[in-house]
Amino acid sequence: MIASVISRPALDMRRGACPALSAPMMTGDGFLARVPLTDMITPQQLAEICRLALRHGNGILEISARGNLQIRGLTEASAPLLADMIALDLPLRDGLAVEVPPLAGIDETEIADPRPLAQAIADGAKAIAGLAPKMSVIVDGHGQLRLSDLLADIRLIAVSAADDICWKILLGGTEESGRVFNVLRETQAVEATLDLLRELSTLGSKARGRDLADNTLDAAMLDQGRSGMPASPRRQEAGPFGLIRLSEDLHTVGIGPALGQASAERLIALCKAAEALGIEALKPAFNHSLLFFGAKQACETLADFASGAGFIRSAADPRCQIAACPGSPACASATIATHDIAATAASQCGELLDGSFTLHVTGCAKGCAHPKVSSLSICGTSNGVSLIAGGKAADAPFASIAFADTNATLRCLSDLVGSERREGETSAACLSRLGPLRLAAATGQS
Ligand code: SF4
Repeated sequence: MIASVISRPALDMRRGACPALSAPMMTGDGFLARVPLTDMITPQQLAEICRLALRHGNGILEISARGNLQIRGLTEASAPLLADMIALDLPLRDGLAVEVPPLAGIDETEIADPRPLAQAIADGAKAIAGLAPKMSVIVDGHGQLRLSDLLADIRLIAVSAADDICWKILLGGTEESGRVFNVLRETQAVEATLDLLRELSTLGSKARGRDLADNTLDAAMLDQGRSGMPASPRRQEAGPFGLIRLSEDLHTVGIGPALGQASAERLIALCKAAEALGIEALKPAFNHSLLFFGAKQACETLADFASGAGFIRSAADPRCQIAACPGSPACASATIATHDIAATAASQCGELLDGSFTLHVTGCAKGCAHPKVSSLSICGTSNGVSLIAGGKAADAPFASIAFADTNATLRCLSDLVGSERREGETSAACLSRLGPLRLAAATGQS
C-alpha cells in the first residue's frame, strides 16, 4: 500500500509539509522520506534501513530534532525502497502524529505511562479528516526524558493530583509557552483532545493548536482550566545524551550523529558494534539522538566506540549547542553550507558555546532547524549572511557580511564574549548585555 502512494501524482511537495514515508518531500538533493517509528527497533533493522538508504537514496540519514529517522536523496524510482521497508516489519506510525517521550512505559520515574492515552487519541483521530499536515499531539508521562521543548498543537502532561493522576492539556507552543486549556482525568482528557482536534478540523487544514488558544476558545474557559490546577512537578532538564539507568539490568545511552546527519556506512558500523555488545534495541529520539538499550557495561563501551567514530556522546559537546538545517546543497532554498559553518564554529568558538543558548545556523530565513528566538543566528541570504541577535532567523539583523567572512566573524564574536564576559555571566547573558550595536561594531559594522 505504501509503495503505491509514492507515485509522482501522490508526492506531496508543499513546502512545510511533513516528509513522511508516504509523502516524501522534494529537497535540494532529491526526495526526503521520513521513517516514522513508534517503537524500538533492532540494530540489525537500522543497519538494513541504512543499506536501503545506500541503495535507493544518497546514503545520508538524519535524525531530526523531534527524533524522526529520515532518508535523503531518493528519486522517483525509490518506490521499491518503501516496499522493502514493509518487509522489515517496522513499527511505523499511521495517521496523526501522537508522540510520547522515548522512554515512555519503561521509565520507573514517570508519573504515568502515556502510551495508552496516546493510542486512544491516535485511534480516535482516524475519524477526523482535514487536519493540518504537521499537526502534532504530545503525551508526556513526566519521566526522565521529556518533550518539553518540542512544539505541539496539543500537549498532555501527567500531573499528580492528591491521590490521583490527571493530565494537563496545553494548546500550541512548547511546555513553557503553551496555553493551559484544562486539567482532566484520563478518559476525559482523551475526549477533550478529540474535541479539540474536531474543532481544528472545522477551521481548515491550516489551523493549528495556537489558533484555538488565540481565537476560538472562550478566554473564560482557558481561565477555568487554570483555576484549581495541581502544581506542575519540578521540570526535568535531562537530555538524551549519556547513560540513563532504567532498572538493575537495563540502561540506555544516547548517541548522536553530529548536526543530526550521518552516512549510512557510519551508522551501519555503529549498529554492528552494538550488536557485538549484545545490545538488542534502539530508538531514535529528540535532539538528534539515538538511544541504545542494554546492560550498563555494553552501553558504556558502545558510547566509547561512538565517540571515537565522531558521534556525539555528551550534551557538553559543542556540536550540541548548534542547530543547523541541512543547508546547501541539501535544500534548494539554502544559500549557505550550514553544516560547514557549524562544524567550524564547534571547533573554533568554544568560548561562545557554553551551553547557555543554541547557535542557530540556517540556510534561509525560514529557520527550520530552530523556529525560536536564539541569542545568535546566522542566516543565509541572497547577498551573503545575516547575523541576528536575540531574535528569530527572519528578524532584523545587526550585521550583514559576505559569506567568505562568516567563520572569521564568528571567531570575532566568540573572542568578544570571551574578553567581555563578567564573572559568572553566560554567553547568552553577555550577548544580550552587549547588544546589537556592540556586536555590529565587533564585526566591523556600526
Ligand atoms: S531553513 Fe534550511 S532547510 Fe529550511 S527551507 Fe531554509 S534552507 Fe531549507
